[in-house]
Amino acid sequence: MYLSKDELLQYISAKPFHLVSEAADELGVEAYVVGGYVRDIFLCRPSKDIDIVTVGSGIALAEQVAKKIGRKASLSVFKNFGTALIKTREFELEFVGARKESYTHDSRKPVVEDGTLEDDQNRRDFTINALAICLNRNRYGELVDPFDGLYDMEDRIIRTPLDPDITFSDDPLRMMRGIRFATQLGFDIEPETFDAIERNKERIHIISGERIIDELNKIILSPKPSVGFDLLDKCGLLALIFPELDALKGAETKEGIGHKDNFSHTLMVLDRLAKTSDNLWLRWAALLHDIAKPATKRWDAKQGWTFHNHNFIGEKMLPAIFKRMKLPMNEKMKFVQKMVLLHMRPIALADDEVTDSAVRRLLFDAGDDVDELMLLCEADITSKNPEKVRRFLNNFKIVRGKLAEIEEKDRVRNFQPPVSGEEIMKTFGLTPSRPVGELKELIKDAILDGIIPNEYEAARAFMLQKAAEMGLKEC
Ligand code: ATP
Repeated sequence: MYLSKDELLQYISAKPFHLVSEAADELGVEAYVVGGYVRDIFLCRPSKDIDIVTVGSGIALAEQVAKKIGRKASLSVFKNFGTALIKTREFELEFVGARKESYTHDSRKPVVEDGTLEDDQNRRDFTINALAICLNRNRYGELVDPFDGLYDMEDRIIRTPLDPDITFSDDPLRMMRGIRFATQLGFDIEPETFDAIERNKERIHIISGERIIDELNKIILSPKPSVGFDLLDKCGLLALIFPELDALKGAETKEGIGHKDNFSHTLMVLDRLAKTSDNLWLRWAALLHDIAKPATKRWDAKQGWTFHNHNFIGEKMLPAIFKRMKLPMNEKMKFVQKMVLLHMRPIALADDEVTDSAVRRLLFDAGDDVDELMLLCEADITSKNPEKVRRFLNNFKIVRGKLAEIEEKDRVRNFQPPVSGEEIMKTFGLTPSRPVGELKELIKDAILDGIIPNEYEAARAFMLQKAAEMGLKEC
């Protein structure tokens, strides 16, 4: 964590920092690199957004820097916010004037006034995000760390610079950010800070769904997302922002028979999937694959606990969840729905004998997403019985082999029926009606069951034969 002055200077040796330095001296204002960029230097994380704070006008400093860069710089000025952005091919610099903020109770939009560097550092969310490095020539590379953010990085701690109750009540999004940083970085949240999250959790209601989802997505994309969900659960935020996930908690026992805790199972599946895929939407599918278990849970004297159709009901629950949580209601949601609907199919397949016909049907239903589905299903095996795990994983290997073999042979992944409804209607002089649908279904089943190959001639001959059996006449 510790860096010598020379090492630190290396991190700010690139051209943009020197240009800011010169421009700030010319204008006679202080300028600092702040926030995430400085934090990430010490955490050895690559970071490309450079935030510059100046004790003066951020816009004036940006204009001066842009002049120095010349034609290669594109400068955008946001007068309302007092900020400016310089983009070149190599870097992005964001400028803002140091500010002091005061909040009203019902909004996270502060009243802003010009301030000192200290005021600006006071308004930052966590000590590790409040470090600044001076860029003026006579203090170039001087670290300003008023809240011991460096020590907190060393101790791997998330802590607010000022009273956490005020920090979180002022801007409750910071509660989500704190849990997100703890998850991304593998840090602990300092107990007083965490207690304040618990006390202020209800304040989350003033935050827009879009901002909450941004943070939740970053938690989901972290190396071990369960860390974040466990923290959200412990502080009580989970029940407020994601009641359906909260409802998975707990394990009931009846007549000595218990079922697994679906919350911890879900988190285990998500963590396992995080090791094999960084597809955000597949990770969402892991989070939601058993979401309908509470709604479908039944006690049956013979079978014990059952969750019949939880995949089917889960798929139906998703649009309402996506809408409320401001998740995209487009093909991404459809993908998650498909994964939730099909998540038990490869397991069922691997449990029995793996027949060609069952594999063809799986390929047909999953289409191009079959590889993702297999990753989800493999992650879903969380049994503590090593013999069971070994058998499932071995059968999955067989399923994967068969999938490749059958796809190579039959090309059913993006199956289009070789004989169209139109052709059926034309051949028998039919209008759109039941026999047309029945014939189409029979052809599809015959191909998927391997009775006929996935080819036009064979499908047409099969159609003529079945139509004759149904009493249809060619016209
Ligand atoms: P990341 O890039 O991973 O999101 P970051 O810390 O750079 O992390 P930004 O959202 O770009 O996140 O914020 C830049 C800096 O602005 C932060 O490091 C922090 O100092 C400050 N900041 C951002 N959001 C808030 C907030 N809600 N309250 C207080 N300070 C904030």
